[in-house]
Amino acid sequence: MSRAVRWVCVAVAALAMGAGLSPPTPATAQVASFSPGSSNGGDSYFPLQGNGGYDVLRYDIVFSYVPGTKRMAGSTSLTALATQNLSRFNLDFTGLVVRYVKVNGAVAAFSHQGQELTVTPRAGLRSRGTFTVDVGYDGNPTHVVDPDGSIEGWVVTSDGAYVVGAPQGAMTWFPGNHDLGDKATHTFRVTVPSGTTAVANGALTYKRTVGGQTTWAWTSREPMANWLATATIGRFNMTKVSTGSGMNYTFVDPSTGTAPTNPVYQTPDIVSSLSTLYGPYPFYASGGVVDNAPSPGYALETQTKPLYPFPPFTQLVVHEVAHQWYGASVTPTSWRDVWLNEGFATYTEWLWDERTSGRSAQEHFDSAYARPSSDPFWQVRPGDPGPRDLFHPTVYSRGAMTLQALRATVGDLAFFDILRAWADQFRHRSVTTQQFVDLAEQRSGRQLDDLFQRWLYMPGKPSFP
Ligand SMILES: [Zn+2]
Repeated sequence: MSRAVRWVCVAVAALAMGAGLSPPTPATAQVASFSPGSSNGGDSYFPLQGNGGYDVLRYDIVFSYVPGTKRMAGSTSLTALATQNLSRFNLDFTGLVVRYVKVNGAVAAFSHQGQELTVTPRAGLRSRGTFTVDVGYDGNPTHVVDPDGSIEGWVVTSDGAYVVGAPQGAMTWFPGNHDLGDKATHTFRVTVPSGTTAVANGALTYKRTVGGQTTWAWTSREPMANWLATATIGRFNMTKVSTGSGMNYTFVDPSTGTAPTNPVYQTPDIVSSLSTLYGPYPFYASGGVVDNAPSPGYALETQTKPLYPFPPFTQLVVHEVAHQWYGASVTPTSWRDVWLNEGFATYTEWLWDERTSGRSAQEHFDSAYARPSSDPFWQVRPGDPGPRDLFHPTVYSRGAMTLQALRATVGDLAFFDILRAWADQFRHRSVTTQQFVDLAEQRSGRQLDDLFQRWLYMPGKPSFP
């Protein structure tokens, strides 16, 4: 995400019960006991986000959307692995009307309250077994409002929707385990009126028009956390370029007046330049989407195709592309650790300047550090900013300063080795700050607890380095 612009009834459908089915019981073994999966994913800032008892492997998201009526109708199928004996489990979903739920092809009972869709299958699901869930739904999807007042999710635009998921927007348009730590692969089949484009993550599998309706099919082959998913809809001009190792897609809304020289078109070069710093680009697809979206007005590092609400400037493209390594591929397990995204992406902007304009990262550090110790900027702790300050300037700037303090302590050689090892060892995984500290200590041979404690967790202006 780009801070620069961010400143800125219980519907119980007792289908199964009505059909005279008994509550879930283990089919064979008398000893097996089944219990409900948690409705809480464990995130301290957004406790209802995510669920326990299973791990999703794959999502197939299929829907139609009509910008004129703002109406969606579709289904999401998921394949999951039970991590306990489950009598029932929850999915996160809000705003749309659930028409049916099936588990392993059989109609299941469900209740839908707030953002919790509770599913009770006909029979208990055994630990370590895989199962499928199909959810059918329709309605008018909308956005959610965060504790900091910003909005995300299905954000309606004049010609479609700008679909951004950080931190909790994914639940507004598809049901799932929206836990940051539960990555899965995704396919999308989105049908829109012909002339309208639907852009999702990954590679374009096909585009088919029948009877005035066009279906856009996308496959995201690498694992993805759901908040990084998108299915942005509107009028766009598409540019497709083969990069040698993959495919780059640029979508530009003509109403944005984006110049042909806009840096979004330089994304393949920026990807290759950052690859020399951080190691191989972690995805097959790359690209960017330039929409006309004054609300919400911020950019987001949606996986493989960052979203820009206006024609981006170079630093913004660099920031969002950097997130593909740090944010999309290596993803925090909890929102508390969001500096692992924003500090790294901001630091990449500094490194970009160091390489292109001669202004060093240390000079960026110095100007940020020049704030007097009385400045409220120093009071927010980047390592635990709280939900209201999730995207506070300090998460970005003091997060990046933390990395400069690390660099000044361990030296360039160890520092860049740490950044590359972080991207490599934790590729497509979910991580914690402690894992980063451990890795930095291991690679540098230095004791660094004190440095990270001071820079990330103590209120007040830290001493440098
Ligand atoms: Zn960002």
